[in-house]
Amino acid sequence: MTRIYPHTIVAKFGGTSVADFDAMSRSATIVLADKDVRLVVLSASAGVTNLLVELSGGLESSVRQDKIDTLRTLQYNIISRLKQPEAIGQEIDRLLDNISHLAAMAVDSRSDALCDELVSHGELMSSLLFVEVLRERDVETQWFDARKVIRTNDTFGCAVPVISEIAERVEKHLLPRIAQSLVVTQGFIGSDAAGQTTTLGRGGSDYTASLLAEALQAARVDIWTDVAGIYTTDPRIVAQAKRIDTLSFSEASEMAAFGAKVLHPATLLPAMRKNIPVFVGSSAQPRAGGTLVCRDTHEPPRYRALAVRRQQTLLKLSSVDTQPAHRFLAQMFGILSRHDVAMDLVTTSETSIAIILNSTGSTSGEADTLTTALLTELSSHCHVEIETGLALVSLIGNSLSQAPAVCKEVFADLENHSVRMICHGASSHNLCFLLPAECADSAVKTLHRNLLE
Ligand code: ADP
Ligand code: ASP
Ligand code: MG
Repeated sequence: MTRIYPHTIVAKFGGTSVADFDAMSRSATIVLADKDVRLVVLSASAGVTNLLVELSGGLESSVRQDKIDTLRTLQYNIISRLKQPEAIGQEIDRLLDNISHLAAMAVDSRSDALCDELVSHGELMSSLLFVEVLRERDVETQWFDARKVIRTNDTFGCAVPVISEIAERVEKHLLPRIAQSLVVTQGFIGSDAAGQTTTLGRGGSDYTASLLAEALQAARVDIWTDVAGIYTTDPRIVAQAKRIDTLSFSEASEMAAFGAKVLHPATLLPAMRKNIPVFVGSSAQPRAGGTLVCRDTHEPPRYRALAVRRQQTLLKLSSVDTQPAHRFLAQMFGILSRHDVAMDLVTTSETSIAIILNSTGSTSGEADTLTTALLTELSSHCHVEIETGLALVSLIGNSLSQAPAVCKEVFADLENHSVRMICHGASSHNLCFLLPAECADSAVKTLHRNLLE
């Protein structure tokens, strides 16, 4: 594919950056400040996706109406600040009517497909409104339905993109539009082969931006959010957290995978495939600078950052017969794979396996990995124990598995915490351990003080 604009930048704005008219105006100013920004990817306005997810759960009529009224107020607070509110008001009304209809359907026939259809309205509304904000600045802007190009499988709530189809569709449908004018589209949403709306999981707009950047062979992805970059840990947990000016793809993708919410876990995969740098900055303080994630950083430090992933479940499987360990492991992984259990951290001993299951991320918010069918099959072969209420704390760094004193430095600091499971050695970029959820913040504060400040 020949790039029409060799310097194309894809700019993504998260929920707080399009929360209201003033936030949208600040974001519009950022878009217009750089002529290389040709494609804008938007999240729903802050709070909207949560309301839509609640509506998809099938609510009682008066509660449903309250939530729809809240949504209407949020949208009209923006519409009322536009110079020409009539036409866009009608379009938003049509989407609100749709929401109302789908939310009523969810009472009798709740499904993940219906949930995705419903929540997609958040991004549809914010992107339509943002186009108006830009047009009022006399900028020629086209609204584009991301579902035309973001082809996924049909795992509703956490759909997997089909990269080759996205590339073809972007070339056919999106590239010609970008050649004409600035284009605004939605993050988070896609469609399956049957044309049904899907979503990429909570926080998925970052992923959309990098998928589109990959297909466009863009020069950079800018992620505009409510923090001025990626910090040594979540600044909401540790006020002393410091911004990291440059991060390598591997460091940043480990941070995202292990819970640093600032980036959706899969965001950096497309960027790494095409070596596209990703900038993270604050739309409220665009001059405050940010973090650049790119292929190389100079002399990366041993300890880089800490991340927390909450709502973790520990699944423990113990052999009840005398079959050799390798057969037991093969049998258990076979069952888990047939039931599509996504597991990223595992420890084993001769007769037992401990697996961390991550229940964050799916759009519907339902952790349905441990289905009755799976538990019945597992129980017929082994003893099953399930522990919930856990959090995974990860230390991200470089050459961690080769350095001599890492375990001593980490676990000496945590002598008062009951560590449930440790994963270390498979990747030289992380050391992860599981704790009771209520201890996670204190562990992060202690480790941050001793290793990163
Ligand atoms: P957006 O709506 O713009 O996508 P998110 O809420 O998804 O924003 O992500 C931004 C939030 O990520 C920040 O407000 C911060 O609390 C959280 N966060 C978690 N870990 C980090 C980190 N290491 N650096 C910066 N922010 C982080
Ligand atoms: N609006 C979606 C969410 O709240 C996607 C995103 O913001 O990236 O999860
Ligand atoms: Mg986000």
